[in-house]
Amino acid sequence: MLNQKEQKHMAQIIDGKAVAADLKDSIAEKVAAMDVKPGLAVILVGDDPASHVYVRNKIKACEKVGINSIERRLPQDTTNEEVEKTIQALNADASVHGILLQLPLPDQLDSDYLVQLIAAEKDVDGLNLRNVGALVAGLDGLVPCTPEGSLILIKSVIPDLTGLNAVVIGRSLLFGKPMAQLLLKENCTVTMAHSRTKNLEDICKQADILIAAVGREKMVKADWIKPGACVIDVGINRMENGKLCGDVDFEAAADVAGAITPVPGGVGPMTIACLLANTIKAATKFGS
Ligand code: NAP
Repeated sequence: MLNQKEQKHMAQIIDGKAVAADLKDSIAEKVAAMDVKPGLAVILVGDDPASHVYVRNKIKACEKVGINSIERRLPQDTTNEEVEKTIQALNADASVHGILLQLPLPDQLDSDYLVQLIAAEKDVDGLNLRNVGALVAGLDGLVPCTPEGSLILIKSVIPDLTGLNAVVIGRSLLFGKPMAQLLLKENCTVTMAHSRTKNLEDICKQADILIAAVGREKMVKADWIKPGACVIDVGINRMENGKLCGDVDFEAAADVAGAITPVPGGVGPMTIACLLANTIKAATKFGS
């Protein structure tokens, strides 16, 4: 007879690190077979310590798969004109296939304006309005990395999403909106929730796929989750004890969900892997 511990339900933990490692291996193989060495340029403005860590990780990941990384560092007091000049030079450089402007930018800079200057075919973050529009229209383009990576994780446990109810909490251009579009494309019935949503808990309970991208520590409780649902936790929050946690109360949620991503080790590693994948796509589809 099973003891009480063995009888307790435990969700499948979706291992983002392992899925990302497989994706990176296949990217490295593709790069090795390419005639042109793909190049990713990262523009880093100012002294934000977190941004420096993110950029370092992106450059390391490029090196591992054979993508050429180009770093452009600009001082904290840089002007819009300086950033614009840097972007235009990279747009014109045939050895650069992907360009990423690390956000957030210092206050004196106009992020919305500057992001749009990146050529659509080199816009590996998928924020250029041509790529945003292509996703909505169901046309080919570059898709933001974190939703793209989240979809790969969902499909690793549910290959066919047709007809499933998906709820996305958060409606940012970087995550929530493109995530909803990707799920629509997979034939899900999609609900987008945000800070003004009423009865959020009840809406979440309807979800076969529940995705949280808010930035509020353990906000999604176990009793908001439909038993057996696939839960994707995009949030990254630093707790008082210094450790990271997501937007979902992971320990309790794992008793109810069918599958769940941990934080860290879930969506995070997929973001970088998809950045590399987007660079290869930019180099093969749009590169000269
Ligand atoms: P964001 O631009 O700040 O958007 C947050 C969204 O959450 C907004 O749409 C907001 O609604 C909504 N929201 C805020 N409070 C809410 C509440 N009480 N109930 C329901 N919705 C609420 O953030 P983001 O860039 O999308 O990122 C979200 C989280 O994901 C952050 O923790 C971020 O660090 C993380 N993230 C992780 C990765 C990764 O690689 N793992 C990548 C990107 C982001 P309104 O629109 O109404 O304000």
